[in-house]
Amino acid sequence: MARGGAGRIRKVSRKASGMQQPSPDRFLAALASLLPPERLVTEPERLDAYRRDHAELVTPGWPIGAALPIETGEVAAILRLATDYRIPIVPRGAGTGLAGGAAATEGAFIVSLTRMDRLLELDPDDLVAVVQPGLLNGALREAAAAHGLMYAPDPASFEISSLGGNLATNAGGLRCLKYGVTREATLGLEVVLADGRVLRTGGRTVKQAAGYDLTALFVGSEGTLGIITEAILRLRPAPGPAATLVAFFDTLPAAGRAVAAIAAGGVAPAVLELLDRTTLRAVEARTPLGLDTAAAAMLLAQSDAPGAAQQELEAIAAACAAQGGRDIITSRDPREAEWLMAARREALPALERQGVTLLEDVAVPRRRVPDLLAAIEAIAAAHAVVIGTFGHAGDGNLHPTLVFPRGDAAARGRAEAAADAIMAAAVALGGTITGEHGVGLLKRHALPASLDPVALATMHVLKVALDPWGILNPGKAI
Ligand SMILES: Cc1cc2nc3c(=O)[nH]c(=O)nc-3n(C[C@H](O)[C@H](O)[C@H](O)COP(=O)(O)OP(=O)(O)OC[C@H]3O[C@@H](n4cnc5c(N)ncnc54)[C@H](O)[C@@H]3O)c2cc1C
Repeated sequence: MARGGAGRIRKVSRKASGMQQPSPDRFLAALASLLPPERLVTEPERLDAYRRDHAELVTPGWPIGAALPIETGEVAAILRLATDYRIPIVPRGAGTGLAGGAAATEGAFIVSLTRMDRLLELDPDDLVAVVQPGLLNGALREAAAAHGLMYAPDPASFEISSLGGNLATNAGGLRCLKYGVTREATLGLEVVLADGRVLRTGGRTVKQAAGYDLTALFVGSEGTLGIITEAILRLRPAPGPAATLVAFFDTLPAAGRAVAAIAAGGVAPAVLELLDRTTLRAVEARTPLGLDTAAAAMLLAQSDAPGAAQQELEAIAAACAAQGGRDIITSRDPREAEWLMAARREALPALERQGVTLLEDVAVPRRRVPDLLAAIEAIAAAHAVVIGTFGHAGDGNLHPTLVFPRGDAAARGRAEAAADAIMAAAVALGGTITGEHGVGLLKRHALPASLDPVALATMHVLKVALDPWGILNPGKAI
């Protein structure tokens, strides 16, 4: 399958017997008696806003409409009708996804969860929050902070991405190195299944061992198994002020060796991020901070270990110096720390100012980070493409971002070939084609080479069991 085309997706599965043809007109007519006109979008000019996510290379199809439900009962009713009339459904959060997961497929119906955006409960005693899926990650972050608490998963998009999207992609973030990704912060879910039944998983307890872990199954399922309508999320006491370190390197693999050495040395910083020269230059061009743009790479580390932050940073500084790191600076000033974290979060928007971007999301075992960085450099040279690499180096999760001029078909072809080579290199190093963004449409062609075939077949069995008509986000993820 080619990369990124959303218009010609076949239904993933349809029961062989009793097959019914889709009836979009009857589906829309039934919905019109369920939802007020302002929450049922069918006009092309309004629908356009619901067609794309942030994956620029994915060409979306035209949906037949979009709904903006405000409660679980409405989502259930929509899915019951979608099953009755065989209408493919694309669930959608804030549309910041980078793999085309929320991109419209031709003839599909969009269910946008943005109006289900309430914080239902924040319980500082049980350390849980109960949220609707459209609540932005940043809104929960703020609400938790008001109680001296933290919701740990912090994608760089935290101000603009929804918790439902974070759950459906199993989003990671900068401090996930220490505190775990979205799956580790999820205690329970309410999910509407394809046939409209409402399923509840997990609960408010930190430990749960009754039956299969369905919560973990739905987290990261990219809208292909059900629509998440509520979540019980784990909060933690907010850590104390962090100490921050930056170190510059004259070669990319040297920065990678420092990352591997830090991991092997048993140090557990809260943050360990990498920005290469192309990214540093793009960030400086957007917001001048005085970062050393002659360096091949910069590592940015933070420690929030109570009473031991300085000690942790000293160990990290020593590991960096041993690999040729220079201009190693540490700071306890929270404003400086926030500038540096903001600079890191600007990496993608800054690269996007340089041209069209194709962002990869590969992850490898930590000790293979230097090999992955060397492979990325070799691939950039072999395919004559510009690659800005940044990301969660401490997790072994990097975002090599291929940048090419708009409208240059040859450059786009080279970038796509290079992206495929990067994914193949990550798999060869014992890694994966996606650490946190999901497969969506963009990476589906690369999935078979990166998964055990029996595991992939089992995923298809689960998909058919939960969504026998293949109406949920068909063509995405698996
Ligand atoms: C500048 C920038 C920085 C980013 N940084 C990070 C980062 O550090 N870490 C990271 O992991 N990601 C990052 N991302 C990617 C993106 O923000 C995440 O994937 C995010 O989790 C998507 O959330 P969303 O609300 O935008 O979801 P959408 O893009 O709307 O949807 C994403 C997927 O989830 C499904 N979905 C959405 N809501 C539901 C629901 N309620 N039920 C079932 N399925 C649903 C959709 O069908 C789709 O498959 C970044 C993106 C940008 C633009």
